[in-house]
Amino acid sequence: MRQSSVRAHNLALVLRQVADSANPISRATVAAATGLTRATVSALVDDLVAGGLLTELDPPPRTGAGRPAAGLALAADGPAALGCEINVDYLAACVVDLTGAVRHRLVEHADQRPAGAAAALAGLGRLAARARALADADGLPLAGAALAVPGLVAADGLIRVAPNLGWQDVDAPGLLRHAPGMADLPITVDNEANLAALGELRAGGGAPDSFVYVSGEIGIGAGIVLDGALYRGVRGWSGEIGHVPVHPGGRECRCGAHGCLEQYAGMEAILREAGVSSLDQIQAPLSSAGTALGLALAAVVNLLDIDTIVLGGIYVPLLPWLRDHIETELHHRVLTAHLAPVTLRAAVLGPDAAMRGAADAVIRSVRDDPAAWLSRAGRL
Ligand SMILES: [Zn+2]
Repeated sequence: MRQSSVRAHNLALVLRQVADSANPISRATVAAATGLTRATVSALVDDLVAGGLLTELDPPPRTGAGRPAAGLALAADGPAALGCEINVDYLAACVVDLTGAVRHRLVEHADQRPAGAAAALAGLGRLAARARALADADGLPLAGAALAVPGLVAADGLIRVAPNLGWQDVDAPGLLRHAPGMADLPITVDNEANLAALGELRAGGGAPDSFVYVSGEIGIGAGIVLDGALYRGVRGWSGEIGHVPVHPGGRECRCGAHGCLEQYAGMEAILREAGVSSLDQIQAPLSSAGTALGLALAAVVNLLDIDTIVLGGIYVPLLPWLRDHIETELHHRVLTAHLAPVTLRAAVLGPDAAMRGAADAVIRSVRDDPAAWLSRAGRL
């Protein structure tokens, strides 16, 4: 390896040790854990502190013999992330700092379907610019932005199709860059369920290494996490659980087929079933939606041998009204149900999982390659 790539590798190694530690740790502990010499670790730590990625905390009051060591921690005023989400009926943006703390959160509820892609992304751009101004006021430099969308996204960020928005081949990064203050920011785009699943995996809420995350909105998507990694599928388009048939020959779906899960357990179907106009009015079990979800999830469990299902989006508040019907179907249809239970639980990040996952993706990219950030920020 070239010298510079060895150094980049070691910077990431040191930063990861500090990030993964529950408490501030000393340079000596980092050296012991990484196998690097103390002199090497000290030089790397100095660069990370100077670059605004690490902070050195005062040592705790001495309790015994010897000089207590200063503790290292991620810098809360270091590079931050802008997490954005566009969904059928809302826009959202948040600022998350390097430690993973949410510093600002903005949400605007409005149906995005009538406006079309350019207007919806212009609206999101204004929201993102407001979030960026709040980050600026806090003195937080932004490392980048990530956008969660309810659709199939190509590797270059092009939204190939978002059926519930009625979008096709939308250049989201290109349109977002027109917003004030966004032109210089690296922007990535990913499917909202994928980002939410990654957010849950890393949120430390006890998510296992393998699970399926199901995001309920007007559409329904899934993020499949296997052995700690997102399974994206051959072309990156896995997780379209909303179009798993649960009633062949049933209601027509926006995708053109009939009887898709979305038509029974998507938000509009649920409001219809409950005969209410908003989710917080729901006060009774949702048998049709719960049974439809149970049918689709039983197929997923039978196919993948997953033992945990995490429900996100609108399913977080609705889980008490869905759980019995889902579990009845799982019990009845999962071949191994009597051998090992399937755990059904709500997303720990709640309805914000997708935009939090988006911000987390940016933070991870800084943590995984601090040298790239330092060189971009002119600090290396
Ligand atoms: Zn469909």
